[in-house]
Amino acid sequence: MEKKVRVRFAPSPTGGLHLGGVRTALFNYLFAKKNNGTFILRVEDTDQTRFVEGAEEYIVACLAWCGISPDESPQVGGNYGPYRQSERKDTYKQYAEQLIADGYAYYAFDTAAELDAKRKEFPNFLYGQATRMDMKNSLTLSEEEVQELLAKGTPYVVRIRVPEDEHVSFVDLIRGHVSFDTNLVDDKVLLKADGMPTYHLAVVADDRAMEISHIFRGEEWLPSAPVHILLWKYLGWEDEMPKWVHLPLILKPDGNGKLSKRDGDRLGFPVYAQNWTDPKTGDLTKGFKELGFMPEAFINLLAMLGWNDGSDREIFNMEELIASFSIDRISKAGAKFDFEKAKWYNHEWIKHAEAAKLAPLVAAQLSENGIQVADGVYLEKVIEMIKDRCHLLTDFLTQSAYFFVSPKDYDLSAVKPKWTTAKTAFYQEFAQELKNFDTATALEDKFKELATAHEIKPGELMLPFRIMLVGGKFGPGVFDIALTLGADEAISRINYALEALN
Ligand code: GLU
Repeated sequence: MEKKVRVRFAPSPTGGLHLGGVRTALFNYLFAKKNNGTFILRVEDTDQTRFVEGAEEYIVACLAWCGISPDESPQVGGNYGPYRQSERKDTYKQYAEQLIADGYAYYAFDTAAELDAKRKEFPNFLYGQATRMDMKNSLTLSEEEVQELLAKGTPYVVRIRVPEDEHVSFVDLIRGHVSFDTNLVDDKVLLKADGMPTYHLAVVADDRAMEISHIFRGEEWLPSAPVHILLWKYLGWEDEMPKWVHLPLILKPDGNGKLSKRDGDRLGFPVYAQNWTDPKTGDLTKGFKELGFMPEAFINLLAMLGWNDGSDREIFNMEELIASFSIDRISKAGAKFDFEKAKWYNHEWIKHAEAAKLAPLVAAQLSENGIQVADGVYLEKVIEMIKDRCHLLTDFLTQSAYFFVSPKDYDLSAVKPKWTTAKTAFYQEFAQELKNFDTATALEDKFKELATAHEIKPGELMLPFRIMLVGGKFGPGVFDIALTLGADEAISRINYALEALN
């Protein structure tokens, strides 16, 4: 019988959440939802040295923002808990001991200094089949010596004993048949001197305990797969082993290697989902959310990094992604990250979003900048007019502020040198007319007619008019702006600018 679909996103709480991590969570989630399965968030916090305060809460918040809600997690609970590995500590030791008893693992007593010395002597040193018999461990020491060291409380780790001259082969649902030469795989530490398991032991024990059916994770974990597969086998669980799905890497824009946070800093785009403040240094790393991405756009663009539905279609909401998702359409090749394309997705989502949905976001931005919006209908009208010009939600502030408050700074430098009294006369007359028109075309016709009467080319008058109303050289059609502002406000802005120009 096919196992019920149960998948997990298993981040280590070590800092900000990289967009590759969110994509892993997303693919797990899509697969679970598509197959009426369960999506689990498991926190892999066994490495005390890398643990960062607040990172778990941050991961939970990022997933919530993206609309990826776990069915089981430290926060929501579930029947397979606890969902933090540090709280499962007691379960791992017995497995390490079982592996030792069965000859699949061994105690290693080498001190940090001894290991360092080896690494100095052999820069490519691997603790494994070629070297393990030169080291201080229960394979080289006698039974009595081992017992004595243990009785004395000598610090030790437990290592897996990777077999010699074998191949570990398995099927990856994206890559097909994959095989590793065991002579190139090192004897990974399974249990550390502090009694905590390493990731390798904990991940296998928990994937089994939580009845995980498919392991979706980044390709960077592929080299660890042979160790995990050996553990599934050595612990006697081979029949229960989940299916493997190693997702393609997300690459730097030039395709040269995995995209890192440093690339984002260097090239000026975010790599984390949300703002992350390092609790030790206080350093802030910007996230997609705060930069002005819609969560719908963010998950859409992530889904397209390494997946497509077989057509040219690029825009999908979460329901559509769930309906179309299939492992067959995930590519093997890494996906280059392109920030311009990411902004394109956001622009598409903003353009097609209802003004009513955007209104609270825009009102909040305006309010943060001291502009209180009283009239919701007016706000939605403004949003409708400008949303095509916004690639980021943060663009709404500049694009909309002048609809609510008169511009403080006028970019008159381009206008002033060519200013004439005839132009002043034109605007004085045009201002009188503003009240009489309620369509942009009719107002524009009047504008042109008056320009001709004053013997000025309408083209020379258009830019000054825009600057009078907006403060700068941007925004939608200037006659639309004038009508939206209303005649009184437009007239007052014209008069104010005329004073500055004369
Ligand atoms: N804790 C690992 C990580 O931080 C999980 C890898 C896996 O999914 O097996 O990505």
